[in-house]
Amino acid sequence: MEKRPFNELGLSPEILKAVDKMGFEEASPIQTAVIPHGLAGKDVVGQSATGSGKTAAFAIPAIEKVDVKLRQVQVLVLCPTRELAVQVAEEFGKLAFFKKGLMEVPIYGGQSYERQFRALHAGAQVVIGTPGRVMDHMARGTMKLDALKVIVLDEADRMLDMGFRDDIEHILKSVPAERQCLFFSATMPQMIQDLIKRYTRDPVWVRIEAHAQNAPQVEQIYFEVDRRSKIELLTRLIDLHDFRFGIIFCSTKIMVDELDEHLHARGYSTDRLHGDITQAQRTRVMDKFRRRGFEFLVATDVAARGLDVDDLEVVFNFDLPNDAEDYTHRIGRTGRAGKQGMAFTFVAGRELYKMQNMIHYGRLNIRRERVPSMDEVEEAKGNVFFERLRATLEEKKFRPHDQMVQRLIEQGYTSTDIASALIHLLQGAGEEAPAKGPGTKAERIAANEAPKVAPAAKVERAAPGASPAKAPPASALGSARSTHEKPVYEKPSGDRFAAQKRTFDRKPRTGRESGFTTVTFNVGRAQLVTPADLVGKIAGVTRLPANVVGAIDIHEEHTNVDVATEHAELVVAKLAGIRIKNQSLKPAIVPPGAE
Ligand code: AMP
Repeated sequence: MEKRPFNELGLSPEILKAVDKMGFEEASPIQTAVIPHGLAGKDVVGQSATGSGKTAAFAIPAIEKVDVKLRQVQVLVLCPTRELAVQVAEEFGKLAFFKKGLMEVPIYGGQSYERQFRALHAGAQVVIGTPGRVMDHMARGTMKLDALKVIVLDEADRMLDMGFRDDIEHILKSVPAERQCLFFSATMPQMIQDLIKRYTRDPVWVRIEAHAQNAPQVEQIYFEVDRRSKIELLTRLIDLHDFRFGIIFCSTKIMVDELDEHLHARGYSTDRLHGDITQAQRTRVMDKFRRRGFEFLVATDVAARGLDVDDLEVVFNFDLPNDAEDYTHRIGRTGRAGKQGMAFTFVAGRELYKMQNMIHYGRLNIRRERVPSMDEVEEAKGNVFFERLRATLEEKKFRPHDQMVQRLIEQGYTSTDIASALIHLLQGAGEEAPAKGPGTKAERIAANEAPKVAPAAKVERAAPGASPAKAPPASALGSARSTHEKPVYEKPSGDRFAAQKRTFDRKPRTGRESGFTTVTFNVGRAQLVTPADLVGKIAGVTRLPANVVGAIDIHEEHTNVDVATEHAELVVAKLAGIRIKNQSLKPAIVPPGAE
């Protein structure tokens, strides 16, 4: 199904700026097909399911038609429910962000008339309403439609199912004959076809079909998850399955940047691709990914299109794809060459309808699963560790340490205790905050005030190649310099367990570590800044591994961050002007002795 860049569709600079701000990289198939006809003033019948981007498909040409100097209703959108009316009005608001003077108002039953009168009286040019309430306003004379240029029927089949047929016909008969009609419906039963015949003129038909084929080699699962918990779920799944090679798809450039930064800060080995990245940089990232120079590529559909990698272990749909076709395209990169691949899709809130539509219309074979608990993740990690230990013993892949073992035995420890203590250390127990706090890692994570940014998972991953060996430990990221942990700053190794081994090197610290320089930032507790926010920004903006950051000392209005000295000036230069919590950063190096 064809998709084109927005700047090839004949749109105004205001709309182009808005879609860019919304993070859309290219027009979806329905947008590519509908927008040019909409702009040309043609009536359009669009058959496409929710989630295809149909709202922008009709909103964009409708906005382009509005004369902002004229303070009368020029666009009327009819929707079946108040939720949809509000949602569509929000989308209009975003798309018309740069078109100054455009006012849109949702009008639905259950809301006070007073507010609606005020907005109409103030001269809203776009009304998005449910048929019943729109009829009310027409009957009261509080909404005049003489200047109407465009009428949109959104989800017409649902409106008929809900018994709005008479209201819709009444409205359609009452609006000027010269108006343009954009008619959207997921299905086309006879009643809908009758309406189309009577109320549209020589319409262009646009049908976006879902040609998705099922991919038997790919195990496909979706999770219903709270938007804010998506990152936590993502890292749990990566750890649970011990994935090492996959793509994580996001719908916008902004989300790609944010997620890449977050994962980076948690110690995962990632890089990103999206439309704003230069061609040279893209080629570099793609080559590196093919060579498995990092584990997870965070990307938009557009950016990942030219990437000929098809032996991925996993594909994550961190954001839902536009339609079933995009879905199939995304997951087709895994499960090749007779190998079983996995595809996980995250569904948040209202997206469930979109997911169900995709499954239904695209005849997709995706099953729902519940989010794995932290205990399950811990158990799975334990199993991986056990296997690794067993293989090491079996293959005798270790140097003997007889002398040290002998010394411990002489001091009265049994070999079982010694082995248990080593496993304890290797499993990251050395990362624990001193004495207080709950015992198991799962409990610690549950008790952590900010589990979404600092789960134990991150301290256990060592990235391949030149990627970060590990992020600063969760405990070291806590408030104040309370943990006395030496920040780890050493060359990464390809061994995921190397990060755990490094816990042996920890020394108590006092003041600034040698090799580190303190950089102060003008944000602190007052701005609700967390250590992970800062580490994420530093790692994301500079592309340095997160472990160049040492201790973090959060104060009320500022935060001191220890940065490996050779990178301190770069951090100051790159972070200046970057926004965190709506505050523009002004980093500065703190002279030695002044911290
Ligand atoms: P809709 O089918 O209109 O309900 O849109 C579904 C979702 O896709 C909404 O969250 C839109 O903001 C988003 N969307 C619409 N068009 C695009 C696009 N061209 N690129 C990325 N996301 C889009």
